[in-house]
Amino acid sequence: MKTKLLNGKKDKVNVITLGCSKNIVDSEVLITQLKGNGIDVQHESMKDDSDIIIVNTCGFIENAKQESIDTILRWADAKEAGQIKKLYVTGCLSQRYREDLEKEIPSVDAWFGTMELPLLLRRFNADYKHELIGERITSTSRHYAYLKISEGCDRPCSFCAIPIMRGNHRSKPMEELVKEAANLARNGTKEILLIAQDSTYYGLDLYKKRVLSELLLRLSDVEGIEWIRLHYAFPTGFPEDVLKVMAERQNICKYLDMPLQHASDHLLKLMRRGTTRKKTENLLQKIRSEVPGIAIRTTMIVGHPGETEADFEELKDFVSSARFERMGVFTYSHEEDTHSYTMADDVPAKVKEQRMAELMQLQSEISLDINTARIGNTLKVLIDRKESGYFIGRTEYDSPEVDNEVYIDASKNYARLGDFANVHIHDATEFDLYGNIVKQE
Ligand code: SF4
Repeated sequence: MKTKLLNGKKDKVNVITLGCSKNIVDSEVLITQLKGNGIDVQHESMKDDSDIIIVNTCGFIENAKQESIDTILRWADAKEAGQIKKLYVTGCLSQRYREDLEKEIPSVDAWFGTMELPLLLRRFNADYKHELIGERITSTSRHYAYLKISEGCDRPCSFCAIPIMRGNHRSKPMEELVKEAANLARNGTKEILLIAQDSTYYGLDLYKKRVLSELLLRLSDVEGIEWIRLHYAFPTGFPEDVLKVMAERQNICKYLDMPLQHASDHLLKLMRRGTTRKKTENLLQKIRSEVPGIAIRTTMIVGHPGETEADFEELKDFVSSARFERMGVFTYSHEEDTHSYTMADDVPAKVKEQRMAELMQLQSEISLDINTARIGNTLKVLIDRKESGYFIGRTEYDSPEVDNEVYIDASKNYARLGDFANVHIHDATEFDLYGNIVKQE
């Protein structure tokens, strides 16, 4: 179908993104390709002037799936009401449940999987333009961008449906990533966030060895990139040579996101994480000694089948002693076709919620301690936005959307969005810091 010119007007396309940062990158690549083919496309436009909607879905856990279905239904209604002409759905939910969804929501014009971009483009008579590889119109604030270094995952984690939706691990060639980072820097990006399903696996398929440290060195040499942030590290087989590079290079944030999911050996075994509490503690100690001052973010799952009160007590004990700077907690979601789905989902929903609340309460006390200790320090802050009388930014210990922020009173300070500023911290709460600018960089 060619994008028709109605009354001389091109069809407008609006891309809606749900889910994680990897989906954001997929939408950005889709938008770049559509634009590269001369199609009028926007991302998450709030205006209701779109003719064609593309929903990029998430199919990770129950809540995310429900949000994706609600979004599709909202636009299916809009199509029924004649407000839009075409509705396409892509992404993880479509990859995982296409057959059922095709029957349940017939007003969707076409469904695409996570690896079917060329097919989706063909609906617009558009070709996949290889010359655009490495070029990407980002949807995040101009000064930071996600860099997806690989797709898919080879890990056997028993609760996880991602390999079903994203396939096996495929590293992106290092040259392409360096080119992409250079293009992003030319377009004003100062901070790149390395993302993947498992970033520490980088290179094992393509180069037959883990080369994340080499990739970090190459990206650290890209002119204009002032912060490189590492997300989604996996504890088992962690490439420790990365730590030396993190310690040496100023523009690699002293920050590591490493989901651990649990700490009791019983649960780590049930979850097929391939590690133990002791090994995890040794790794954390190594990370903290080799990269002094590093902020570690982790994620935990409570309520996995088989989790006893004793397992949960052990998890709390571990969190108390590990003192993570940042932590997120999920309640277990019973996902079809995963290994855990073969087990009874025996932890009641109420207990899952209670355990999550208890663990988050513990973490907020730890986080308040850590933040309070920063009072009196002067920290380098990247200014993200201005809101409610404050300039709001982040330190190298904070990733966008998920971590702490720094609030700077706009009536007493001036800053430009996207600039770095040195901020003297005078106050702290569990999850935020307050300060004044001392010297504008
Ligand atoms: S590392 Fe484990 S939890 Fe993460 S995407 Fe792979 S299988 Fe899922």
